[in-house]
Amino acid sequence: MTYHKLNAVSDISTSYMAAGIKHAGKTCAGCKMADIPGTLWQCESCTSVSLCAVCYFKDNHDTQHSFYRVDGPGLPRFVC
Ligand SMILES: [Zn+2]
Ligand SMILES: [Zn+2]
Repeated sequence: MTYHKLNAVSDISTSYMAAGIKHAGKTCAGCKMADIPGTLWQCESCTSVSLCAVCYFKDNHDTQHSFYRVDGPGLPRFVC
């Protein structure tokens, strides 16, 4: 358990939340939050699995899976 990652995610998620970005219709597979705010993480292997930034950094999904990072609706995805 490192606190390093959690500090990083709070920086990322709060900055995007402050910008009012959310992913309408996407529900976090970890905490079940609807319309994921901020950065969304989409599992490359499980097409139905999306995570909010907090759950992604908590390793709430299979850590062997690759994720796409989506900073906002309609923005290009990054493989992480
Ligand atoms: Zn979540
Ligand atoms: Zn997966």
